[in-house]
Amino acid sequence: MSEWQTRDKAYIAGTYNRFPVEIAHGEGSVVYDTEGKRYIDMGSGIGVTCFGISDPIWVKAVTDQLTRVQHMSNLYYTEPCIRLAELLCQRTGFKKVFFSNSGAESNECAIKVARKYAAEKKGSEYNTIVTLRNSFHGRTLTTLAATGQDHFHKLFQPLTPGFVHTPANDIEALRTTVRENKVAGILIECVQGEGGVNSLNEDFVKAVAAIAAEEDILFMVDEVQTGNGRTGELYAYMHYGVTPDVVSTAKGIGGGLPLGATLLGEKAENVLGFGDHGSTFGGNPVSCAGAVSIIERLTPEFLDEVKAKSDYVFKALKDAEGIESVSGKGLMIGIKTVKPAAEVLKTCMANGVLCLTAKDKVRLLPALNIPMDVLAEAVEIIKNACE
Ligand SMILES: *Cc1c(COP(=O)(O)O)cnc(C)c1O
Repeated sequence: MSEWQTRDKAYIAGTYNRFPVEIAHGEGSVVYDTEGKRYIDMGSGIGVTCFGISDPIWVKAVTDQLTRVQHMSNLYYTEPCIRLAELLCQRTGFKKVFFSNSGAESNECAIKVARKYAAEKKGSEYNTIVTLRNSFHGRTLTTLAATGQDHFHKLFQPLTPGFVHTPANDIEALRTTVRENKVAGILIECVQGEGGVNSLNEDFVKAVAAIAAEEDILFMVDEVQTGNGRTGELYAYMHYGVTPDVVSTAKGIGGGLPLGATLLGEKAENVLGFGDHGSTFGGNPVSCAGAVSIIERLTPEFLDEVKAKSDYVFKALKDAEGIESVSGKGLMIGIKTVKPAAEVLKTCMANGVLCLTAKDKVRLLPALNIPMDVLAEAVEIIKNACE
């Protein structure tokens, strides 16, 4: 173990099982460790650095803002968060935005909005949020309660009450759950990320939208991982021909700085009033200036390139030796390997490619602008590691 690794272990809470690699710097989709070894980054900080490491356009947007004002609090107007909110609404048709700092917080806001909407429309006993088994919505006590995976819950009881989980892609079970509880909203990931990169069926997503509309409760989509171009559309719900009432997002939106956003549609736009919610850092001007430079570049033409790269990876891996199946959408890709995923990851790392896992799969979340030749090089190394 290096000296830095020893000091990390001595002073940082042991919540992460880090790989023995110390990243020193990078450029685009390539990073270097402290010994100068080159890696292709197929994880982009878990879908965060969506234009790669130190992307020059993003760096300029962020540093220009840094020299103007880095933080002022939400007691005053600042330009970057206004520009970002306007841009997000123009690109999606959503009406209003609440800014926070992370995915969990963007979901907390969505949950508060659903509960207040239901309390005013139906009564405060309508406070249950329906989520899916195998989902992931964050690490706060409330978003852990939303997360449909028991192993995250065990030692942290009591969690926030008012959450029930129903199996993905089972419309009848969803109907029963909504009938048997006093429900305020339904929260889903269109592609379950941490749960193993599983896309929901179109019929099911359409049924969620329809049931929420029938019951006059909020249809909410957690786009923390799937959002901001990751799946080849600006937001993943756009693949499904549905219009959610609320979308939460984070990860890629800031291009590498902390930022969360909760987008509110027509039904939800006026639910939050003065004093109902807030955040000290939410909508930070530096994060938002970076985010504007990201969202502006997620044009239809750019998203077509994301789709083309996705097709390339799916084709290259689908019938390759040692690979059972490939799942996901766009550049959010899960690979079910014959060998254990951890073993494939280790071989990839030795050969200069950094990948992620999700459950028993190898997961790829490369930068959306990864150059084709770099992507091809990484895919070759991954393929060989699976054999
Ligand atoms: C990562 C993730 C979260 C949590 O985001 P944080 O920024 O870590 O709080 C929530 N939902 C989904 C779908 C995620 O992938």
